[in-house]
Amino acid sequence: MGDAMVDDEQAMSRAEREVVDLCRELIAIDTSNYGDHSGPGEREAAEYVATKLDEVGVESRIYESHPGRSSVVGRIAGLDPTRPPLLLHGHLDVVPADAADWTHPPFAAEIADGCVWGRGAVDMKDMDAMILAVLRQRMREGRRPPRDIVLAFLADEEAGGTWGAQWLVDQHPELFADCTEAISEVGGFSLTINQDRRLYLIETAEKGIAWLRLTARGKAGHGSMVNDDNAVTELAEAVARLGRHTFPVQLTKAVRELLEEICQEFDIPFDEDDIESVVARLGPIANMIGATLRHSINPTVLNGGYKANVIPGTATAEVDGRFLPGMEEEFFAEIDRLLGPKVTREFIHHLPAVETGFEGGIVTAMTDALQAEDPGARTVPYCMSGGTDAKSFQRLGIRNFGFAPLRLPPELDFAGMFHGVDERVPVESLRFGVRVLDRFIDLS
Ligand SMILES: [Zn+2]
Repeated sequence: MGDAMVDDEQAMSRAEREVVDLCRELIAIDTSNYGDHSGPGEREAAEYVATKLDEVGVESRIYESHPGRSSVVGRIAGLDPTRPPLLLHGHLDVVPADAADWTHPPFAAEIADGCVWGRGAVDMKDMDAMILAVLRQRMREGRRPPRDIVLAFLADEEAGGTWGAQWLVDQHPELFADCTEAISEVGGFSLTINQDRRLYLIETAEKGIAWLRLTARGKAGHGSMVNDDNAVTELAEAVARLGRHTFPVQLTKAVRELLEEICQEFDIPFDEDDIESVVARLGPIANMIGATLRHSINPTVLNGGYKANVIPGTATAEVDGRFLPGMEEEFFAEIDRLLGPKVTREFIHHLPAVETGFEGGIVTAMTDALQAEDPGARTVPYCMSGGTDAKSFQRLGIRNFGFAPLRLPPELDFAGMFHGVDERVPVESLRFGVRVLDRFIDLS
């Protein structure tokens, strides 16, 4: 290690140094979530977090929704107790990883090429570590936040939050009842426009989720007979109608604001009739943004019959529907029209869309904190195509923002690493995030 490196290390805050270890230690605790209770659970990670908080005098409690499925909630007193608290939350679970596909083992938390590698490095043990590092340093220095902070490290986000955020909101709503605003994943990361311009995408909206089971009922009978009421035929036609349907482009507030900014940055006209070519300018994240222009429905599972010469009485299918904020009713009206009278639907999984405005003191705080650390930063709202624990906290009237600040190198395909192989986060990005979060808390 050269002298320059030593000087850099010394110039760094304790949080900037510690965040890397915290992130690696969290990654090394396997919290794979298989969507049932067969995984290792979050207990060990929850105890780790509770210990790290306890070391600096933050009281927290572990809540267990099911044996091993643990979340941690704590609270830090702010300077002005009359102000409503800010909720900082992150999930502790990760999606599973197959080590055979990875350059560095997914739970080894190795550092290579300036990055921390491992499952959870971007989704979202990076942010968990950033929150911990910042709050630990603030507590050691006696720097209280301007208002109370409620901290939540949650189980089961990757399976919809049933045993984490949803459970806590149902069973212990008092923990969050007075919170008005929350920050968490998936936002605050940079998108490089040119060498000295970066857009930081702040999540202000999420599409809603409707996983549906479709059932067609007909007349069962022998495969050799005339049958004008065949459940398999009805189902197949309905599934094909859904699968081939393209919903029209409908720009929600967040999507419109993002695309207008993109046009301004690239100095191209904002053409409502050719939105797709604007989206194509976004590079690697075009796919995700493209999915927020319209509702979508994708057939995923087909089931029917058991023998080639027996017409079954019923046939079922499953489809994955995603609807835009504020347009749930019209989405289902269109789905029902496409299904027709002979196919019924029921929910396998139904979670609301999320939306809040890109305005207010908290947005100013995010923007100012980013610009203080990156003078070329510009913040823009965006809508996420997937879902997060924000869906649960919205039920309590909390405004949700995806703000896990990371300044990223332009060539990194960040969006592609969520649930992907070789998930990794640059060490420098973690340190940047710590500095921004610390400033943000002071401004919040
Ligand atoms: Zn996540």
